[in-house]
Amino acid sequence: MSNCDSCPSKGNCSSEGSSTCSKLVTKYGKVKHIIGVISGKGGVGKSTVTGILAVQLKNAGYKVGVLDGDITGPSMPRFFGINNERAEILQMGDTEEVKFNPVETSLGIKVISLNLLTEQEEQPVIWRGPVITGVLTQMYTDTDWGDLDYLLIDMPPGTGDVALTIMQSIPVESMVVVSTPQDMVSMIVKKVVIMAEKLNVKILGVVENMAYIKCNKCGDRIRVFSKKSAEEQAKYLNLPLLSEMPINLDLVENMEKGKAEEYVKSNGEYNELIENFKKLS
Ligand code: ADP
Repeated sequence: MSNCDSCPSKGNCSSEGSSTCSKLVTKYGKVKHIIGVISGKGGVGKSTVTGILAVQLKNAGYKVGVLDGDITGPSMPRFFGINNERAEILQMGDTEEVKFNPVETSLGIKVISLNLLTEQEEQPVIWRGPVITGVLTQMYTDTDWGDLDYLLIDMPPGTGDVALTIMQSIPVESMVVVSTPQDMVSMIVKKVVIMAEKLNVKILGVVENMAYIKCNKCGDRIRVFSKKSAEEQAKYLNLPLLSEMPINLDLVENMEKGKAEEYVKSNGEYNELIENFKKLS
């Protein structure tokens, strides 16, 4: 798919169809790179990895935004500790057009999520796929992103119509795949990998989350779910290994206190992800 397909400047741009365009233009913003974070299965850490990557990119000096595309289970506001804040919804003149002002985290990452647009975060979404897709696309086009180097999308789970439509309608440059070391999970994640390949979306690599726990006394890595190495799991998916992440209760505790940004920023354990991300992108 061409990056121009969903650009509002399509039909009115001199570099259309060429690879010279370095900025994807939304209604109220310019984005250099859109990266999707995806996994075929819920609960493997897709949102957590999106948050960690966003913090690391911000820490490396980039302007970063996060679009919480997991409409039925939005969890990015909690990761960033901004779940009690609300994104501003502005009506544009007398038209039906709206503009969403994203919430900025303490590090300055711009976040939009359905949970920042609804009155209460517990309100469920009881919508069918096409409505969810429409809302998600609107959150991408109608948010005032300003000038971003990276927009990370916490992708809708699974290989259903929502994930499929987003891959086709938002110009995602590449994907980071998240998995856990369990054969059943890898098999489901592989479906997403094959789906992305069929849609010609580049995959940078896989993050093996919850791969091990670290012994407090001796520092040994104990693999909890599988004796297979992360490399073996990555080989099965036919993807480079971006990072192997431990089950980390300190991370969870900091997330619960809304302090995940500071924790990730100061924890060298997560540097492998940004180093490999930069190498492969
Ligand atoms: P997904 O987006 O794939 O549904 P989440 O990122 O929301 O998954 O993670 C699911 C749950 O697992 C959350 O409660 C999260 O805090 C926890 N979790 C994710 N990764 C880790 C990790 N490395 N260590 C400990 N808990 C984790």
